[in-house]
Amino acid sequence: MEISLVKLLSRDGATETYRFPLELTEIEISGTAYPVLESQPVELVLTHEGNHVLRITGGTKLKLELSCARCLCPVEKEFDLTFDRKIDFNLSEEEREDLEEDSSFADKESLYVELLIRNELLVQWPIRVLCKDDCKGICSRCGANLNVQTCDCDTAVPDPRMAAIRDIFSKFKEV
Ligand SMILES: [Zn+2]
Ligand SMILES: [Zn+2]
Repeated sequence: MEISLVKLLSRDGATETYRFPLELTEIEISGTAYPVLESQPVELVLTHEGNHVLRITGGTKLKLELSCARCLCPVEKEFDLTFDRKIDFNLSEEEREDLEEDSSFADKESLYVELLIRNELLVQWPIRVLCKDDCKGICSRCGANLNVQTCDCDTAVPDPRMAAIRDIFSKFKEV
């Protein structure tokens, strides 16, 4: 979805309001495509504050399908996005890139709604999601999902960090 900014930026003080469905079945974040399960209409208010300074406000809500960091099961995650950005088109592209905020979702001709949404999603993106707090994950040996089954693998040995801790404890015992 692309919104033309040409007319808006030709008149100081002009405002345009938009409300439209988000027609995305999936959204790509850092190379992975996540299915969009539900979304509310995108609302946008674009204000030309004068002298080629554009303010973008609005928001949307969407539900994406992520996967559990431990067992890889699908996990539904809701995002409540709020936009409030200001872009000064008097700055060169390089100068805008130097600013903390990424403004690649717009140039003087167009606002790219999908990029704006992706940008906002990145801000809120969880470090990791779990299907439940006590997800038991997947057996590192046989790949069994340990939430639904048990396996006979010997998991007492594998982790070298645990072995190091055991060493420390056995030293204490010797003292
Ligand atoms: Zn899980
Ligand atoms: Zn196993």
